[in-house]
Amino acid sequence: MNIVSEPAQVRAAVREWKANGLRVGFVPTMGYLHEGHGSLIRAACEQNDKVVVSIFVNPMQFGPGEDLESYPRDMERDSAYVEQLGADLIFHPQPETMYAEDFCTFVDMTGLTEGLCGKSRPVHFRGVCTIVTKLFHIVQPDRAYFGQKDAQQLAVIRRMVRDLDMDIEVVGCPIVREPDGLAKSSRNTYLSGPERQAALILSQTIRFGEQLVADGETDARELVRKMTEKIETEPLARVDYVEAVDGRMLQPTDRVKAPLLVAMAVYIGKTRLIDNFMIE
Ligand code: AMP
Repeated sequence: MNIVSEPAQVRAAVREWKANGLRVGFVPTMGYLHEGHGSLIRAACEQNDKVVVSIFVNPMQFGPGEDLESYPRDMERDSAYVEQLGADLIFHPQPETMYAEDFCTFVDMTGLTEGLCGKSRPVHFRGVCTIVTKLFHIVQPDRAYFGQKDAQQLAVIRRMVRDLDMDIEVVGCPIVREPDGLAKSSRNTYLSGPERQAALILSQTIRFGEQLVADGETDARELVRKMTEKIETEPLARVDYVEAVDGRMLQPTDRVKAPLLVAMAVYIGKTRLIDNFMIE
């Protein structure tokens, strides 16, 4: 497996593969890989002939005061893991390579990006759409893999690909969790012992919400109220948002009616964690 840092090196490899009629899968990540990323890479390896994984902590999607500098990084461990999973190429560019000093072109989306995480992270999705567009242009994959863990991001990427006629199949993959339920995340490493325990309130509340729906709750505001109340029983937790939105436009809705996305962001100490469930 090769690790390259220049777009031209990726293009050269992919050009050769495509000349041989091979299908290319792509998994964009910010590194510090865990089994959540692993599930995407595995799916990509199963469904394509060649797989590119990008590892890039994208400065543009972090707002002021967010964790850009402290975001965990471990290229050695990551590359061993990617190799073990059977991917073919890691693209690991430097920020200066991706963003020239006079960079001034952005991909911006209205609507879908304004609620949920977009409310407390106003520049986030512009950064995500811009970097994913750049990576798509560099890699030119047939298929790209994203986790349902970042449900809003998955919906945004699907919409961007449709709206801008990108010839790429977007594949969504289910949330991978720790044995005790906590959704796997590179940011879980920020948690102290007591915070790690407190963070279980997210997945417990997701299960609670799913059960309320299974038991017949039809009022989305009631669902959100009961879920919020449950999170507030955990003293180390502070709710950023709990919302029920329609699964297509991501707009708030009063009715529990498929397709529905129930999503939350919760601070455990200083660490902001997200989780969600979908009713399809
Ligand atoms: P990140 O490195 O956090 O930018 O994530 C890269 C990709 O991995 C995104 O598409 C995420 O949605 C996905 N991902 C991260 N954590 C998980 C998880 N626990 N389960 C499934 N996918 C995940």
